[in-house]
Amino acid sequence: PMVSQQAAPTVSSKPSCKPAVFVPVDRSPEIQEARLKLPILAEEQVIMEAINENPIVVICGETGSGKTTQVPQFLYEAGYTSSNGIIGITEPRRVAAVSMSQRVAKEMNLSHRVVSYQIRYEGNVTDETQIKFMTDGVLLKEVQKDFLLLKYKVVIIDEAHERSMYTDILIGLLSRIVPLREKKGLPLKLIIMSATLRVEDFTENTRLFAVTPPVLQVDARQFPVTVHFNKKTPLDDYSGECFRKVCKIHRMLPSGGILVFLTGQAEVHSLCRRLRKAFPFQKNSTAGDDDDRKESVEEMRKFKKSRRRKKAATLPQINLDNYAVVPVDEGDEDRDAETDDDIAGSDVDLDLGDGDSEEEEKSDSSLPLYVLPLYSLLAPEKQAKVFRPPPPGTRLCVVATNVAETSLTIPGIKYVVDCGKVKKRFYDKITGVSSFRVTWISQASANQRAGRAGRTEPGHCYRLYSSAVFMDFEKFSAPEITKRPVEDLILQMKALNIEKVINFPFPTPPPAEALAAAEELLIALGALKEPPMTGRLKEQQAAKLSCPISPLGRVMATFPVAPRYAKMLALSRQHDCLPYTITIVSAMTVRELFEEFDRPAASEEETVKLKGKKGRLVQMQKIWAGQGSLQKLGDLMVMLGAVGACEYSGCTPKFCEENGLRYKAMLEIRRLRGQLTTAVNSVCTDAGLYVDPKMKPPTEAQATYLRQIVLAGLGDHLARRVQAEELLDDKWKNAYKTALLDDPVFIHPSSVLFKQLPEFVVYQEIVETTKLYMKGVSAVEPEWIPVLLPPYCHFGKPLENPPPSYCPETGRIRCHRPSVFYRVSWQLPAVEV
Ligand code: ADP
Ligand code: MG
Repeated sequence: PMVSQQAAPTVSSKPSCKPAVFVPVDRSPEIQEARLKLPILAEEQVIMEAINENPIVVICGETGSGKTTQVPQFLYEAGYTSSNGIIGITEPRRVAAVSMSQRVAKEMNLSHRVVSYQIRYEGNVTDETQIKFMTDGVLLKEVQKDFLLLKYKVVIIDEAHERSMYTDILIGLLSRIVPLREKKGLPLKLIIMSATLRVEDFTENTRLFAVTPPVLQVDARQFPVTVHFNKKTPLDDYSGECFRKVCKIHRMLPSGGILVFLTGQAEVHSLCRRLRKAFPFQKNSTAGDDDDRKESVEEMRKFKKSRRRKKAATLPQINLDNYAVVPVDEGDEDRDAETDDDIAGSDVDLDLGDGDSEEEEKSDSSLPLYVLPLYSLLAPEKQAKVFRPPPPGTRLCVVATNVAETSLTIPGIKYVVDCGKVKKRFYDKITGVSSFRVTWISQASANQRAGRAGRTEPGHCYRLYSSAVFMDFEKFSAPEITKRPVEDLILQMKALNIEKVINFPFPTPPPAEALAAAEELLIALGALKEPPMTGRLKEQQAAKLSCPISPLGRVMATFPVAPRYAKMLALSRQHDCLPYTITIVSAMTVRELFEEFDRPAASEEETVKLKGKKGRLVQMQKIWAGQGSLQKLGDLMVMLGAVGACEYSGCTPKFCEENGLRYKAMLEIRRLRGQLTTAVNSVCTDAGLYVDPKMKPPTEAQATYLRQIVLAGLGDHLARRVQAEELLDDKWKNAYKTALLDDPVFIHPSSVLFKQLPEFVVYQEIVETTKLYMKGVSAVEPEWIPVLLPPYCHFGKPLENPPPSYCPETGRIRCHRPSVFYRVSWQLPAVEV
């Protein structure tokens, strides 16, 4: 083919870098014609020369210019795969890895045995594979096994502008791997590809690359896009606003595809349904929609195996060394935020009422609307539909999540409807537990979305928010790495055997104090091997910053939750505690399980009503708290009980309303339980867990184990009640001392343990209102502390003049200082482990 001949290698000064063979590709005429229209084809020679001459190259280009589909083909034709070594391309999203491998295979007229993909749970890589698309997580796992990535001749990091955590770490790692490969005489080419967004973090970062890599700019044909802002910004119902906007466009504006940006799968389906109802097209198009939903429920069922381990309960003591799971090899975590929508099934339906306007909008337009959904988990065959021309005489309308922003380019789009929101993962500062939330996008994202309208002709972008709101958007979204809790990240890197995290060449590093604090916590949790306490303080501190991972840490690293919670999960295979721990961790992640009745009321009548409701809730909480050891599990038992009771009743809005539970929170917990169960099953392949909504309450013994498990995970959130003789003044009455704060803290009045004042408690979080209050409180037994939390204990000599509360016989624990260390008598009774 003509174009490829242009790229025939030129003579280079470094022959070892440049393959000499030219590999012909047999493309169909239609494909060849479509390729020739792509702006990047004109740059093939420049791009290939830059790659031949430099170990690292950055390629920037407008989305849709052809980077992802064409650069691997350029390399293939230039012979980069002709001697041992393949081309690897990483994508932050699974959907892109799968669909791009299929597209490239088709363009090159090669089978998927040669152009393949690998994502976490599936792939079609063979011995013949020469071009391999994968998620960034998959390549990161490969680095763990083969640090030099010897299998690859070229590694392409695609969509680097997304700044996903794994992509960032990969770029840091590759900045070291490339020179190492050079030294070995087996050079590796690194190509970083990005949409036209900020790339200085990569190129002007001397820690990263010794020599600034060349940046190639691919100019794209971009037609002007007229941007229309809404005068007012709708508060909540952006989905309804999208519906109205699409109806208007379809009825009033000339032909051309419509692309709608929404935030999640449920929303996408809901809008598709409404649009299909308003502009009926084909009976079976709605059926197809239902199929999609069935499929995602089916995914969930796959994990429902019935095998459960039965084991007689023995000593009420968890074993800290019992954290064995069967880790799986390949791994990636899908960070597409919309994926959280469906794991627990299809119960969540965000169809936003608004029935009247639906009737109103019922169109008399003669042109049918061909409505297609597009989101990450959609089956690949269904995704592929958006790339094909719509049936003749119809208008294409794609309702998509963020995947259509830069990962996939849909042909023929002339109108973009942008709700301005995106679903993102957020991390709780205190707990580190992540949850999904819908927030405003960045200005850069808004402009990317608008750009989707001007690919083939001038277009229009309808922003469902005001220009004032747009001006308030952040310019770019911050790199993921600066927003995640770092203890989690550090654990992941240690699992990669990167010990000196502080020296790692991050494109954007997290703050140093954050790194040090994270390392400290991980040592305390037992996820890292503690350094020997020898040498000078400075050396000790340095050693603390480069501890290797422990076997427990490796297990913890496989769970998709913050390390404290990962430790709880890791210990919970004992005594069948996993389903309970999963539920507790899910419930702790969801804020405000219970309705708030302490709000000021508008009328006398309402005050009475609220009081009644609150009374009822308090009563229910007492019931959910159970008796004995269950009751000592405290607020966490209340969470378990509430979830169990709610699910037993079928999790209806009515039940929630009557019992003071927040319906939305309950749905969220159900979903998280599904998600975590799936994750645990993928790690513990023999656990065969399934979500049993109507879970039985834990047994007395299990409740004891659960308290120990919670203590083992929340060790740094331990608090001890101040004893009478320690009362400094009245403000310490009923107060607790914690390891982290000097001030008195109190059990929150809403806690079921508020009146009981156990001697030792662990808490989920501290909130500050009129006082510092602990929430999510469980009682723990003092004698467990030295066994389960040795790093937090100081084993000292018995005191010469012990204060009255000190009891050498029972070895009661004293806390000398409110901070950090608990002094434990050496005479503690041995606890059998
Ligand atoms: P970039 O990576 O620069 O964003 P791509 O290589 O993904 O660009 O896309 C180049 C072009 O190929 C786009 O215009 C897109 O429409 C087209 N394309 C990509 N995937 C497919 C597909 N599966 N079917 C048809 N066209 C496709
Ligand atoms: Mg691309």
